Formats: sequence, structure tokens, C-alpha cells
Amino acid sequence: MIAGPRQLRLVMELRRQGIADTRVLGAIERIPRENFIPETFRDQAYEDTALPIGHGQTISQPTVVARMTEALAVGDRHRVLEIGTGSGYQAAVLARLCRRLYTIERHRALLQAAEARFRELRLHNVTTRWGDGTKGWPESAPFDRIIVTAAGLEIPDTLPEQLAPGGIMIIPVGERGDTQRLVRIVRDEDGFVCDDMGTVRFVPLVAGLPRGAQERRA
Ligand code: SAH
Repeated sequence: MIAGPRQLRLVMELRRQGIADTRVLGAIERIPRENFIPETFRDQAYEDTALPIGHGQTISQPTVVARMTEALAVGDRHRVLEIGTGSGYQAAVLARLCRRLYTIERHRALLQAAEARFRELRLHNVTTRWGDGTKGWPESAPFDRIIVTAAGLEIPDTLPEQLAPGGIMIIPVGERGDTQRLVRIVRDEDGFVCDDMGTVRFVPLVAGLPRGAQERRA
């Protein structure tokens, strides 16, 4: 995938904002963000802004994707779990950096659109699931890294428990509209160590499936 001039400008902007990890910058450079954005907003694909993707959800701002990806310190042997596939953009960036990326989304239509994008970009190391990500993915746990891209009122206990020893998890925590904090959790031999990475703004993490989804599933 050859990056266009607007994509290169975005990468320069990320550098200017302090993103220094060349693997992260390289992954962002190779994923065309326009593929993840609805037609109507496509001209804004390389601006540093969150954009609507339908179902009241948004694709995250590129600087936020870059910061979270950098803080996750993803290695090429890692198995990574993402909660909140949305457009699939964050998943695609992570898939370029890790061995296998697992991603869960509660809106089936969003998940299907994201799956089509993964196929188009030949990202064959992505495994998807339609469901409630607050439960994690116990059958495939433990994970080396976990990233939650929707804000929880609190941290669901199930998720840090699915981290491997030495694993890192990143999650925005706080009420909708209010300032949320981005929290990083590291699992060591003695337990969990948390640190605060500053304020962010995310759509809420919602437990369960959307209304009506249960019947459609049957
Ligand atoms: N990572 C996405 C960001 C999408 S916004 C991207 O790069 O585009 C957050 C997403 O989390 C939304 O699509 C929302 O539907 C989803 N979400 C919220 N609560 C969830 C839950 N409990 N399980 C799975 N997905 C959830």
C-alpha cells in the first residue's frame, strides 16, 4: 500500500504531536483511513478528527489512535484483543503490528462493514466476534495486550483477568460528556499497576447487545 500525500501529511502531524514510535507511524502510514469512513465524510479522512460511522458511533481521532497504539507497546509476537471494532481502523493499525488481533463489536452491521475492509486490505490475522466485549474473549485468553476503544464507567473485572503476565491494557474510564481518563493497566507478578494517561473523549462502553439483536440472532 503506497501512502498518498494527505496520508503522509497526517503522519507528519502525528510526529509533531509527539508520536515517536516508528513502527506505529509506519503502520498508520500503510493503512488508508479513507477506507474506514462513510462516503459523506471521506474528504476529511486525513484530518485529525473523530468522524461519524453510523449507529451513533465514531471512528477515533488519529492522534488518539496513535497515542493508544504507542502506549500499548505491541510486539510482533503479541496476541491483542480490541473491544469496540467500530470502523475497524484501530484494529487494522494493530493488525499490522501484532501476530493476531481479536476484535469484538456489539453492532452487527458495523462489524460486517469492518470485516469487508479487513478482507479488502488483506489483513488475514484479524479474528472478529459479534458480541458484548465487556465479557472479553475467555476462549482465546490470555492476551498480551487489551485495548478498549469505548469508555466504561468502571473497568470490567473480566478484562484485566484475561491479560497474560506482563500484559498491558488500555481503557478510557468515565461518564459520557464528562472528562474521561485514559487508564493503562500493567499486570505484573503481584497484581495490577495502573497509571493515568490524561483526558480523552470516547463513546460509551455498553454492556449487552443492541435491542432486537437477540431475536435476530435466533
Ligand atoms: N476502534 C473503533 C472505535 C469505534 S467507537 C475505530 O477505530 O473505529 C467504539 C465502538 O465500541 C462502537 O462501535 C461501539 O458500538 C462499540 N462498543 C461499545 N460497547 C461495546 C461492547 N460492550 N462490546 C463491543 N463493542 C462495544
